[in-house]
Amino acid sequence: MGLLKIKNLHAAIDGKEILKGIDLEVNAGEVHAIMGPNGAGKSTLSAVLTGRECFEVTEGEVWFNGKNLLELPAEDRAREGIFLSFQYPVEIPGVSTVNFLKTAVNEQRKYKGLPPYPASEFLKMIREKMEMVNIDSRLLNRSLNEGFSGGEKKKNEIFQMAVLEPKLAILDETDSGLDIDALRIVASGVNKLKRPDNSTIVITHYQRLLDYIVPDVVHVLYDGRIVKTAGKELVLELEKYGYDWIKQEVESGK
Ligand code: ADP
Ligand code: MG
Ligand code: MG
Repeated sequence: MGLLKIKNLHAAIDGKEILKGIDLEVNAGEVHAIMGPNGAGKSTLSAVLTGRECFEVTEGEVWFNGKNLLELPAEDRAREGIFLSFQYPVEIPGVSTVNFLKTAVNEQRKYKGLPPYPASEFLKMIREKMEMVNIDSRLLNRSLNEGFSGGEKKKNEIFQMAVLEPKLAILDETDSGLDIDALRIVASGVNKLKRPDNSTIVITHYQRLLDYIVPDVVHVLYDGRIVKTAGKELVLELEKYGYDWIKQEVESGK
């Protein structure tokens, strides 16, 4: 079933068109990778999907779980089950990850018409998820992201995903200089949290992230459009030949 359907999406910033007609369909249960050269519009696409306001959608439609996503404010998109990883996570002094998540989970429940989590059940759930993603409780009791290493931030983010159980996680890993440990953490999290009823879009410039995550579908975003869609074999082709041949294909109008 189509969980996310993007049709002819165009978006601009300061009057400059960045997304030039994106078509993309993601089914529940699938992991998609979006690759592409710097400046192609990958981060813009994730910003538009999560509702960051600086971009203006000029044309096209986005449907998520049967709802018109572009009509929803950003907070409601999150409550509908869209999770965006933070390339530059915010630090919140004095607020631990656990408290931050308690608020987030209860907001989500309120949106669905459910009462807040009873404290004991919340802690039980937290413990289960901790084991699942193998995170240390000391990290969870520290102020959110304050003084965290790159790997710790990623671990924390994967833990947030495990707790919030998004229907769609968008992980934008571009140019954030992830070391190999951080890449492994992200990859193993994505693999562990894969379920038939959720999906993940991994945005990456690095082929090596896809040594650990095996995507069901791979897209190449180039100059504001998805110019190629294939299976995981496309990652190997890109690794071998880079993006130049894509550019040539696009320019020769193939
Ligand atoms: P990618 O993530 O694929 O590297 P981006 O989506 O970050 O690409 O950027 C696509 C294009 O949009 C680039 O040409 C970039 O300079 C431009 N762009 C992105 N954000 C802004 C912004 N806030 N203001 C002006 N131009 C921007
Ligand atoms: Mg168009
Ligand atoms: Mg980017």
